[in-house]
Amino acid sequence: MKAIETSVSDPDASRASALLRNPAAWQRARNDTTAPSGGKGSAIVVGSGIAGLTAAYRMHQAGMQVTVLEANGVVGGRMGDRRVGDIAFNSGARLVYPFGSAFNRLIADLSLHDVLIPLRHLTAQCVSPSGSHTIELMPSVRSLATPGLPMRERFALVSHALRMRAQRSRVDPDWAISAIADDPAADRQTLAEYVRDAIGPQALSSMIEPVFRSTRSFNPETLSALFYRSTVPHLIGEDTVYTLKGGMGCVCQALAGRLDVRTNAPVASIETMRDAVPDRRDGAAASTENVAARGRRCAVTLSDGTVLTADHVVCATEGSLAGALVRNPQREEREMLQAVRYNALGVVHYGFSQPLPPTMQFALRGAPGRISTFQQLPAAPANGRPLTQIYCQLTPEAAGEAERRGLTDNLDVLLRDELRARIPGFDRHVSAVVNQWIPRKLPVFAPGYGERLQAFWRWQENAAHNAERPVVYCGDWTSQALLTGACASGERAARIVLSRTQN
Ligand SMILES: Cc1cc2nc3c(=O)[nH]c(=O)nc-3n(C[C@H](O)[C@H](O)[C@H](O)COP(=O)(O)OP(=O)(O)OC[C@H]3O[C@@H](n4cnc5c(N)ncnc54)[C@H](O)[C@@H]3O)c2cc1C
Repeated sequence: MKAIETSVSDPDASRASALLRNPAAWQRARNDTTAPSGGKGSAIVVGSGIAGLTAAYRMHQAGMQVTVLEANGVVGGRMGDRRVGDIAFNSGARLVYPFGSAFNRLIADLSLHDVLIPLRHLTAQCVSPSGSHTIELMPSVRSLATPGLPMRERFALVSHALRMRAQRSRVDPDWAISAIADDPAADRQTLAEYVRDAIGPQALSSMIEPVFRSTRSFNPETLSALFYRSTVPHLIGEDTVYTLKGGMGCVCQALAGRLDVRTNAPVASIETMRDAVPDRRDGAAASTENVAARGRRCAVTLSDGTVLTADHVVCATEGSLAGALVRNPQREEREMLQAVRYNALGVVHYGFSQPLPPTMQFALRGAPGRISTFQQLPAAPANGRPLTQIYCQLTPEAAGEAERRGLTDNLDVLLRDELRARIPGFDRHVSAVVNQWIPRKLPVFAPGYGERLQAFWRWQENAAHNAERPVVYCGDWTSQALLTGACASGERAARIVLSRTQN
C-alpha cells in the first residue's frame, strides 16, 4: 500500500525572484493581492498547522485581513486525522497535555470545551527480555514502584519530584527556553546526563528513556534537558491528558472555518519587496519612499507562479523548510533556520480481521526487535474504526535503518517477522497495511539550541528594526515540541505583528 508522506515539494526559488523583478508578472498577480481591509493592514500566514492557524486567528480577531496558505490538501499539519481505506490514524499528535495556556484560551474562545475527552492514569507495559513492568505516562507516586530501582534512587526520585514541583511557577511548559532562566545548565546538559545526576542510571533506563523513545522517538543523549525541565514540573500531580472528540484535526478545522484558508497552495518563496511596486490598493505605482514610509511589504509566490502581497508574513512551516522559502534572510534568520533539525518517525498501521485485546507496550532500549511502541486498538465502529488496528512505531534506530536502506515507503518489510512471532496467524488476518513515514516529526532541542532560540526571539521581538522585517516565524521549533507549544508560538507571533501595526 502507498506510504503516506507529509513532506512538501521543493520551492521554486528562481521563479519567485524573476517575478519580483518582472513588472508584467506583478500586473498579472494584481487580482490575487491581499489588500488591507482597514487600518490594521494585511497578513499572509504560510502553513496551516496549529501554530499558523492560531497566529491567523488572533490577527483576524484584531481586525487584520489574513490569508492562510497551506501546501497540503487539508489543514492541521501534524495535528490532523488521516484515513486510508478502513485504517484511521493521526498525522501527528495523539494527546493534549492539560498545561497549555494558549491552547486552553483558544479552546475557550472557540467554545470547544466539549471536544476534550479526558484520559486518566495512562500507562504502558514496558517490555524487556527479562520481564515487563508498568510505566506511568504522567509521573506519580506509583512511579516509585518501578521494579529494579535501587533504594538510593527511590529516595532521590522523591526529592527530585518535590524539587520539580516547586519549580512549577518558574517554568512555562509551552516554552522550553523558560527552563534556561531557572538554570542555564539545562540547555547545555543532555537529558541523559541530567536524569543520571538528579535521580540515577536505573531511573533513566527503566522510566525516562522508554517514555522518550516510545512517545517522542528520541534517545535521551540527543536532547538537552529543556523539554523535561520545563514540562515535568507541570505534570507531577496531574493524572489527566486529553484526546479530542471528532479527531485531533477538529480544532484546526474549527479555526480554518473562521478564516480565509487556501489549501493545495504550496508557497515557493517569501520575499521582502525592496523596490517600488504597483500599489495594489489604488493601482498607482508606489514610490520607493512610500514603500519605506509604510514599512516593507512582502511578496509570497506560490509554486504555480501566483504572487500575493501583504504587509506582514507569518512563516509557520516546519523550521527546516522555512530556510528554503525566505529570500535574502538576515544573518539572525539564516543562522537560526539552519540550526533547526527534526527527528523522523516510521509507523506501520495494520487492519486486523480478528478481535485483539487493548494493549500498549513500550520496548526497553536494547530489547530485540525494531518496534518501540506496540498498540492493539479494538474495533470501535462508532468512533470510525471498523477494524481492529495494530499500531507499530519503529525504534529511532529502525527509523534510521529504514532511511539508509531506502525502505521509508515499505516499513512493513522491517516488521513482519517480529509480528509473526508476536501474533499467531498474523499474515492470515491482516487485511490492510498503511506505511506512515514522517520525515519531520519533532524539532530536536539538542544541547545549545535553547540559547540560540532565546537570542532569536530577542531579535524577532526587537521593535527597533520592525519596518525592515515583515516576516515573523512561529511553530513548535520556536517554542516547545508539543502542539500546545506550537499554539503558544502562534499567539506570540500574532502579538509581534499586531505591535508592528501600531508603530
Ligand atoms: C507522530 C507525532 C506525534 C506527536 N504527538 C504529540 C502529542 O501526543 N502531543 C503533543 O502535544 N504534540 C505531539 N506532537 C507534536 C505536535 O504534533 C507538533 O508540535 C505540532 O502539531 C506542530 O505544529 P506546527 O503548527 O508548529 O507545525 P505543523 O503542524 O507541521 O504545520 C506546518 C504546516 O506548514 C505547511 N507547509 C510546509 N511547507 C509549506 C509551504 N511551502 N507552503 C505552504 N505550507 C507549507 C505544512 O504542510 C503544515 O501543514 C506529535 C508530532 C508527531 C509528528
